[in-house]
Amino acid sequence: MDGFAAMDATAEDDALKRVAARYAVSITPAMQALIDPADPADPIAAQFAPDARELIVTPDERADPIGDDAHTPCEGVVRRYADRCLLKVVSVCPVYCRFCFRRESVGPKSVTGKTPALSAEALERALAYIAQQADIWEVILTGGDPFLLSPRRARDLTTRLAAIPHVKILRWHTRVPAVDPARVTDEFAAALKSKDATTYVVLHINHPRELTEEAKAAIARLVDAGVPMLSQSVLLKGVNDNAETLEALFRSLVEARVKPYYLHHGDLAPGTSHLRTDIETGQALMQDLQTRVSGLCQPAYVLDIPGGHGKAPLAPCAAEKSDTGWRLRGRDGIWRSYRDRP
Ligand SMILES: *Cc1c(COP(=O)(O)O)cnc(C)c1O
Ligand code: SF4
Repeated sequence: MDGFAAMDATAEDDALKRVAARYAVSITPAMQALIDPADPADPIAAQFAPDARELIVTPDERADPIGDDAHTPCEGVVRRYADRCLLKVVSVCPVYCRFCFRRESVGPKSVTGKTPALSAEALERALAYIAQQADIWEVILTGGDPFLLSPRRARDLTTRLAAIPHVKILRWHTRVPAVDPARVTDEFAAALKSKDATTYVVLHINHPRELTEEAKAAIARLVDAGVPMLSQSVLLKGVNDNAETLEALFRSLVEARVKPYYLHHGDLAPGTSHLRTDIETGQALMQDLQTRVSGLCQPAYVLDIPGGHGKAPLAPCAAEKSDTGWRLRGRDGIWRSYRDRP
């Protein structure tokens, strides 16, 4: 019996080594402190602790699940829509989420073989591209996590982008205010602001426990500096795939002055099937949320269509044509008829 358990532990150890060799692993002290070591299903551990099941790759999973590569006009830029583009300034993160849709391309050099940030030359080429493309109204700073930039580099980037006359919106996508809140200093918050463009910050957060007092204080530093905040969450099996957890998450975000923006259906990143739910589960959860919470607490449920075709709204349709006009489903789930006559 003992021997069998020992062999199991060795096999598990070996699997975890293979996971760590393939995908970056990191957790911040703030997130580590939230984990209950006695709980084998801890929702924080499930997001950051490597799992042997990551070695299972299902046939539909792919290295570039949302087709970034096909929409990359120059290094660091992803453009799927005329009026906005992503600018991936760094390829490292303070934590590595086990479900990351860019898990094949984010991480330290030892895992990805790439440098942790865009080179100075590549950044110049990306800025020149954005400056040439007069349709680009919004630039989404992402990565990796762009809040790993120093305040000086964040300030430089803000100034350079805001100086482009057609760029009106700078949107930063980050997990830092939750996972490493001390990084968000007043100096950093000020570095994101410019009189020539409007800055938004979108926080990636998946479980209400991530919203600690320190995280709320970091959010307050940003919002008080005049930066409106939104959030995006990923629907994750065993982490937040129940209405109570989502309700608590979205209510506490709204209380902290963060508007829930997107709930993402899990992308087909390799080795993530144990963390994905199905779409029906997500739709039922959204329906349940509608009966529980204010519209302020309801994000849009979306899925990035594999192959790079952009996001599809997944909320179940609430309006259907009928013989006499329309059928509309209320937040109570009941369908009622409506005559669409002037
Ligand atoms: C998701 C995404 C955006 C942002 O889309 P919104 O719906 O405006 O939030 C922009 N560009 C790319 C390439 C994206 O994948
Ligand atoms: S913070 Fe974002 S980019 Fe980084 S590992 Fe998590 S999901 Fe991926």
